[in-house]
Amino acid sequence: MSICRSIIQCLLIISTIMPLIVNGQSTRSGARINTIIVDAGHGGTDQGAKGKYSTEAQITLQLALKLETILRQELQETHIVMTRTTDIYHNVREKADIANQQKGDLFVCIHVNAAPPKKHRELTGYRTRTYYTGKGKKRKKVTKKEPVYRTWTTPSPAKGTSTYVFAADRSDEKAKGIMEERYESESEILDVPDPKSPEAVIKSRLWSQKFFKNSVRLGSLIEEEFVKIGRNSWGVLQRNHMGIWVLQATNMPAVLIETGFITNEEEEEYLNSEAGQQEIVRAIANAVIRYKSQVETPSTVKSGTNASATIANTSSIAQ
Ligand SMILES: [Zn+2]
Repeated sequence: MSICRSIIQCLLIISTIMPLIVNGQSTRSGARINTIIVDAGHGGTDQGAKGKYSTEAQITLQLALKLETILRQELQETHIVMTRTTDIYHNVREKADIANQQKGDLFVCIHVNAAPPKKHRELTGYRTRTYYTGKGKKRKKVTKKEPVYRTWTTPSPAKGTSTYVFAADRSDEKAKGIMEERYESESEILDVPDPKSPEAVIKSRLWSQKFFKNSVRLGSLIEEEFVKIGRNSWGVLQRNHMGIWVLQATNMPAVLIETGFITNEEEEEYLNSEAGQQEIVRAIANAVIRYKSQVETPSTVKSGTNASATIANTSSIAQ
């Protein structure tokens, strides 16, 4: 009897709490952000995207270390865990394991984007091609004038920031288009366990129910801070391609920030400069600090509508 009663009580409590958790409202009142995991993308044998003179892994490490310094100074009560502090390689599963073992409350993954060169074509003249059609008596000589082109490439002008969150409800059909907007090294994809396995599907659904809203909330704050410093923001993009598998493998809200395009000369300069790096990590730190105070003091939460508005805007880019 007493067991029955406690089960009913439990169910009642769960049914009261669950919709609120799913809605991302802070019934997490009293929820604390005790541990923040900062992940510098790539490293070691996997240098990620390459620019004219620098690599993604170098930049992400410099940014992550600078972010660590600010967060340690300004969130002294919070435990800051780095997935790497040197130029070493971890595959994405190891990164997720570090985050989970350290019981992170937030996973902030720093990356640098790249875009393939732009192809150009110019008509330089015509040449005549001769060929034969038909057989026997019907055999005919045909001459045809064909255009001749000169082709060349120039670096892609793509620039700006975007923050990715994992969204399990997106179908894989868009995978091709998706990969065209985020260019990642193969290791990020090859190291991922089969995302279609039943366990992986369940896990990613759970992640979406529990952590998706808060990930979007943090992502929106990050992009908002980037806009404040004049960056060109692509907004918060919800995706489920393998390149961001690590996000749903962590048992916590998680975002992957593309801090700029290494393939754009101007942005490579900015991403490598002391002033640029300080500006980028200041923006990320501001967002993390704002997020922390929103989650810990639920009454101040106002960003729900902002977050959905951003998603609505950006999802149209994806289609
Ligand atoms: Zn990357």
